[in-house]
Amino acid sequence: MNIFKSIFPYTLETIAEYEVMSVAKVEACLAQSAIAFKYWRKTSFAERSKLMLRVADLLTEHRDEYATLITNEMGKVLREAKAEVEKCAACCRHYAAHAESFLKDIDQPSDASKSYVSFEPIGAVLAIMPWNFPFWQVFRFAAPYLMAGNVALLKHAPNVCGVALAIEKLFVEAGFAEGVFQTLIVDVDVVEKIIDHDIVQGITLTGSELAGSKVGALAGKAIKKSVLELGGSDVVIVLEDADMQKAAQVATLSRMQNAGQSCIAAKRFITVGSAKNTFTQAVQNEIAKLKQGNPFDESITTGPMARIDLAEKIEEQFKASLSKGAQLVTGGDRNNCNFTPALLVHVHEGMPAFDEEVFGPMASIIEAKDEAAAIRFANDHRYGLGAAIWSKDTDKAQSLAKQIEAGAVFINALVKSDPRYPFGGIKKSGYGRELSYFGIHEFMNIKTIYVG
Ligand code: NAP
Repeated sequence: MNIFKSIFPYTLETIAEYEVMSVAKVEACLAQSAIAFKYWRKTSFAERSKLMLRVADLLTEHRDEYATLITNEMGKVLREAKAEVEKCAACCRHYAAHAESFLKDIDQPSDASKSYVSFEPIGAVLAIMPWNFPFWQVFRFAAPYLMAGNVALLKHAPNVCGVALAIEKLFVEAGFAEGVFQTLIVDVDVVEKIIDHDIVQGITLTGSELAGSKVGALAGKAIKKSVLELGGSDVVIVLEDADMQKAAQVATLSRMQNAGQSCIAAKRFITVGSAKNTFTQAVQNEIAKLKQGNPFDESITTGPMARIDLAEKIEEQFKASLSKGAQLVTGGDRNNCNFTPALLVHVHEGMPAFDEEVFGPMASIIEAKDEAAAIRFANDHRYGLGAAIWSKDTDKAQSLAKQIEAGAVFINALVKSDPRYPFGGIKKSGYGRELSYFGIHEFMNIKTIYVG
């Protein structure tokens, strides 16, 4: 019997075990999904909104319980886990309020007596999700797609099965009919079979580039649409006129929150010209304020990384970057899943700290002689997820923002996801968009209706 374990990464203690579903059980879930879709697609927006608002209320009511589960399973500090659950509730409320207007018919005048575009649900959306924001990643697909009349299937990361099952239970408690939202506790080897099933008409994956390329290929083979939200190596470009203290404070938060395990974390800090010394010192000061320890302790800012192999991987990238000439300012010690927040300077192309996604608490300073060089460093990269620019001249920053190859550029602010604007990347960071008006349209039949 195949088992998935939940392990509290701070102590490495096993806290629960979950049995992987048999193929017969998975097939039964898929059949249930098909039955649920027939009913759910015909429900009104008003009915769906009522249920989605109930989900939001339950998230708020049980926030601390869900946050505890998150912290236990992947080690995020409890304060951040609570904020994550609240953000999910806000996402449910957003789509409960706006899905109907996002999906209303659009008149498209033509030679017809009447012609318009209508948006219709397509079936089940299979979501393959990672552990780093184990609630948020699920709600940012489930809230829009369920409101749109699709049904949902979740294959979560194996280290957060408790979260995956708690979310399924939450939808049932809120009153969603059986099969509208289902969690599948499955290994990756049955994913192809799930994708091939007729009820699955869309696949959304958030995860690594490797997983994205494999799942994208399976979706392509089955002729099904996919959205891929993959890795990133976001830059923070600090111009000479930036508010250095504020830039350092926000860049450090971006890099170090969630123990550095965020796709849109600022991973490469690019200083322009004379910005380097002041900014580096300010970042060093910010890192010195961080406190590492038990994520359930209210005073802690930095918990453990989620799994030991992830901590080993960042240690490897750290050491390899040093051996290629990067210089250590602070941090970089590993004890099991705990990696002390690190800062490297003199980072450049050819080092893992520059070339690869560093998915843990390690920041790198890259020196650019001018703005053109900073843009080159940002763009000469396989990823294109998010970026930040710090400058008092917001006109100039906006003109630089247009030159950056990324799905989002934030000026004098933290790069973050929000249901009100689209989220996603370009290049090896993936394709398609989640959230906002744009996200909800990804898995719809965009149908032309022509009246002659
Ligand atoms: P991962 O190893 O790619 O896993 C993500 C999910 O994909 C897991 O459920 C995983 O299941 C599944 N998966 C992996 N290989 C698969 C395959 N061949 N077929 C089907 N499913 C497969 O990623 P991770 O290490 O957990 O998460 C970190 C990565 O996610 C980082 O690169 C990060 O940047 C990215 N991320 C991106 C976003 C975004 O919005 N762009 C947001 C968060 C995270 P198993 O674990 O069972 O293999």
